[in-house]
Amino acid sequence: MGYLINAVQFVMGTVSLVNGISFYNNEKENKDIRGSLLIMGIAAALWCYGYGYMGMVISRPQIVLGRVIGMAGIVIYLIEMLLVVFRMIGVRKVYRVITGSLLGLYGLVDVIMFAPGEKHQFMHVGGRTAYYVDGMSAASVIHYTFICLVMSLAVVTGMLWLFGKKTRQNRKLILILILSHVFLMVSMLPDTILPMLGKYSFPSTCFGVTCSYFCLWYNCVQYNALKITTRNVGNYAYQASSVQIFVFDTERTLCMANHSAQEFFSLNTLEGLRLCDLFSIEADEEEALWDEVYSDRQTELVLDTRENNISCSLHFSVARNKKGKPYCAMIFVYDRSAEEKLFNELQAANHAKSDFLANMSHEIRTPINAILGMNEIILREEKDKNILAYAKDIRNASNTLLALINDILDFSKIESGKLEIIPVRYELSSIVHDCYSMIQMRAKEKNLKLVMDIDPALPSVLFGDEIRVRQATTNILTNAVKYTKSGSVTMKVRGQKKNGNEFLLQISVIDTGMGIREENKEALFDAFKRVDEKRNRSIEGTGLGLAITKQIVDLMNGEIGVESEYGKGSTFTISLPQLILDETPMGDFSKHYSENDNKDQYRESFHAPDAKILVVYDVQMNLTVVERLLARTMIQIDTVLSGEACLEAAQSKKYDLIFMDQMMPGMDGVETFAKLRSSDGVNAGTPVIILTANAIQGAREGYLVIGFSDYL
Ligand code: ADP
Repeated sequence: MGYLINAVQFVMGTVSLVNGISFYNNEKENKDIRGSLLIMGIAAALWCYGYGYMGMVISRPQIVLGRVIGMAGIVIYLIEMLLVVFRMIGVRKVYRVITGSLLGLYGLVDVIMFAPGEKHQFMHVGGRTAYYVDGMSAASVIHYTFICLVMSLAVVTGMLWLFGKKTRQNRKLILILILSHVFLMVSMLPDTILPMLGKYSFPSTCFGVTCSYFCLWYNCVQYNALKITTRNVGNYAYQASSVQIFVFDTERTLCMANHSAQEFFSLNTLEGLRLCDLFSIEADEEEALWDEVYSDRQTELVLDTRENNISCSLHFSVARNKKGKPYCAMIFVYDRSAEEKLFNELQAANHAKSDFLANMSHEIRTPINAILGMNEIILREEKDKNILAYAKDIRNASNTLLALINDILDFSKIESGKLEIIPVRYELSSIVHDCYSMIQMRAKEKNLKLVMDIDPALPSVLFGDEIRVRQATTNILTNAVKYTKSGSVTMKVRGQKKNGNEFLLQISVIDTGMGIREENKEALFDAFKRVDEKRNRSIEGTGLGLAITKQIVDLMNGEIGVESEYGKGSTFTISLPQLILDETPMGDFSKHYSENDNKDQYRESFHAPDAKILVVYDVQMNLTVVERLLARTMIQIDTVLSGEACLEAAQSKKYDLIFMDQMMPGMDGVETFAKLRSSDGVNAGTPVIILTANAIQGAREGYLVIGFSDYL
């Protein structure tokens, strides 16, 4: 039996030693506990080896040697265990070193005094050497005090800490340490008490320390498995990632694939698989690709899967050792089909929005057109001053409504990148003239002085987007009048000749209005943003005007700036690069204008009694507008309400011009036009002008390509 106990002690010591070394080797990331566990494993082994050896030998010096080795193990184990607790509960290093050194000294004294076993009687019984105590000695007091001191220090400090802070991550480990301490203390009892009672000692502490150490080691392994380390997290991320990860060795053969990759490619085995087995790439192309990948020249590629032709994007990454030698290549594969589906859906949604815009612009502009048209007839034909005043109010309100709708449509167009700049040849005087006539009525209504400061030396004909230049200028002019209560609004136009025929057109609008606070200037060009709202509440607006102006000025590669003094007035300046087509000076604008001024009364500019036109439109009111507005020109006007009716009317009577609405129930304008052209009737070659509110980009070109003569 004694031989067996000795042998078991050697086995237990070896188990602790092996565990300690393996933990040290495997848990490189865990610097804190790894060293301590190794020291404790060695100490537990010394403990077991020492007492195992003592059990085997008979002579006193050999027995003492065994006890010295065993006690050294005890001292080191207990002190290291205490230091582990101290470290985990955050005792500062300096205190740990002091405690460790003092206890180490104490332990040394203990070993020197207790190991010789002054009052111990040694006997070799039943195949092992044991002892009993023949009275207490100073060495025994020192020995048991040491053990009690170290162990209770560890247990008490650990417990105090545990009760104090309950949320720390290593709480469980401390608890295990305390429990294994308690277990060790209990296991010491037979070994300590039996000899005192005159019975033979039994090496229960060797079993105790082995179990205590094993429990600690096991929990550390578990704890590490759950600890947030790059290795643990990396393992988890590799499997859990929805991105497919493939690892190829330097022979270009697949050696690992994560869960997502195996599932996506329905892989049962990875053996012998190459990139060309997974993706549509030829073997020789694959070789070239790997060469590029390993020389870091290729990191991204889009390939279809071989099985189902699913488009995937592949991201390559080569793993290298410290010397830069590659040991594998990883490929991160993203399935692009969902992205492509989303892209198609977005495109469809965008088309739906454009269609909606086109429809809405048609739907809203059509009735406004009718209102403005009918009202224009009243303005032309009515003599009663009161009714004329009402009609003017209707015209103003309708124009405001039209401007609002145009702003919203323009803004949507800018947002979807569909606002195009179409440069054309234009006369600068025409823009100035139009701006003047547009704004002078409003200025007059508010009793504001309108000053036109136009440089007569400006070139008469320029090349640029006339409509957008006019729109930007009109926006800042309208604002100037809107936000000025009294005083004046000045439109100043200057220009600078640049290289060749390049020309920088500068249009400034100066007002004596309410001005803009410094802090509001930045937000001025933001969409839907109205500044100084308290003061402006009574002034209608959407907050879109300046945002649109800025965008269109940007699109024309120009600039817009503002200078303003709050309460005194503002100056908005637009600078636009244009081209000069005719350098002849524009001349005195005011003279030119006064000649044509004040033609409040409409006068037709031509008579054409022989001309025959056909107007096709599905809204009767708009047909009436056309008839009445053109009445004084004496043109012969026929009107029809549908495409079918148009074909019928065009069969017998030859027209000089046909105006065709695009959006009509039944046959639309384009279809009617195609039928008309393919017929052999008298109007197969008659010019047709399409009428549409289709304001989206490309509409004009589209209609001209179809063969329409023009677009209104
Ligand atoms: P809206 O006039 O429809 O509100 P804008 O984008 O044209 O929108 O203008 C934004 C804001 O800038 C206006 O609400 C107004 O407060 C301020 N603003 C624009 N022009 C002037 C101006 N000439 N004088 C004073 N404030 C102005």
